Amino acid sequence: MLDDAHAAFKMRYPASITFSRAIFLNWYCPLDCKFCFMSVEKSNISSPKAARRTPASILTEAFLCSKLGWDIEFLSSGYRVLENEYLLRLLKSLYEVTGKKQWLNTGALSKQELEFFKPYIEGSCGAVETVNPIIHDKVCRNKPVAPIINMFKACDELGLRKAMTLIIGMGETIADFPKLQEFIERHAIDRITVYALNPIKGTMFTKSPEADYYIEWLARTRISFPRMEIIAGIRNERLDTIRQLAYLGVNAITKFIALRQFNSKDARFIEEEIAGAGRILQGSLTKLPDIELEEIDAFMLEPERKEQMKRTLTSYLEMMHRNTVLSKTI
Ligand code: SF4
Repeated sequence: MLDDAHAAFKMRYPASITFSRAIFLNWYCPLDCKFCFMSVEKSNISSPKAARRTPASILTEAFLCSKLGWDIEFLSSGYRVLENEYLLRLLKSLYEVTGKKQWLNTGALSKQELEFFKPYIEGSCGAVETVNPIIHDKVCRNKPVAPIINMFKACDELGLRKAMTLIIGMGETIADFPKLQEFIERHAIDRITVYALNPIKGTMFTKSPEADYYIEWLARTRISFPRMEIIAGIRNERLDTIRQLAYLGVNAITKFIALRQFNSKDARFIEEEIAGAGRILQGSLTKLPDIELEEIDAFMLEPERKEQMKRTLTSYLEMMHRNTVLSKTI
């Protein structure tokens, strides 16, 4: 099956593969999806409004991603918790810093909201999570799929792209794969991010799916949808799957804690495995970028924001440099 997936991928795509980083905007969500760390953390958050990152931190991370050659997968937040005006200001600043429109993964948006963001977004992601309706009802009862489908229809009307997320290992079986096929076809999904369940302490889940089972979902997806963009989540304890994921033809990998683990043993292993699969990683998980703090001065942002960005960038670079020095002694 991996060879078939590889052949399907190779006919349509070059050998390159990217590292795609989801940028988190906050850590509070009013919903209670049964697998999610935000649903567990909720009780510890006294001020939901304060549980968000500073714009300078978000902008600096995005700037660093572009310097490292990484894609920004999407901007992710708790379900519809950020004010639209705030989000629009952030999107404008991100466009200034990266020169790119972003994807949103901030909850199901109405047509009016999508229109509001349209000049600065490429598309919107529906956090579908599972295509098995019984499991969906069990794990995401308060996040119904119908508003996501309405958002996809609005995306079509506005010429925006559509993405979805899928988590493997919540009780579905491979017999559910036709449901995924049907969903992708019916809504003409442009991009899918597939994750293996990461069991969070305090949730109802205690184990991840078997690696072969996770890979089978991705291989079948590639064979069924040779043109669709596929992003695969990877986890540190499952890095031995990278070579197979790269070989079967995912377009990008995500979820690796790439800044904190920059140039770590794991980061170097990922690069080796990708090369071993005959793929070429765009950007780097191991080489410090050529970057000057003064580059931030060129952005059309408030002076105070730029100074905050410089301070944040300095801390990021110190952390990444520390890893690089440490790695030479290991
Ligand atoms: S909507 Fe998203 S962030 Fe909120 S609990 Fe569900 S999965 Fe977590």
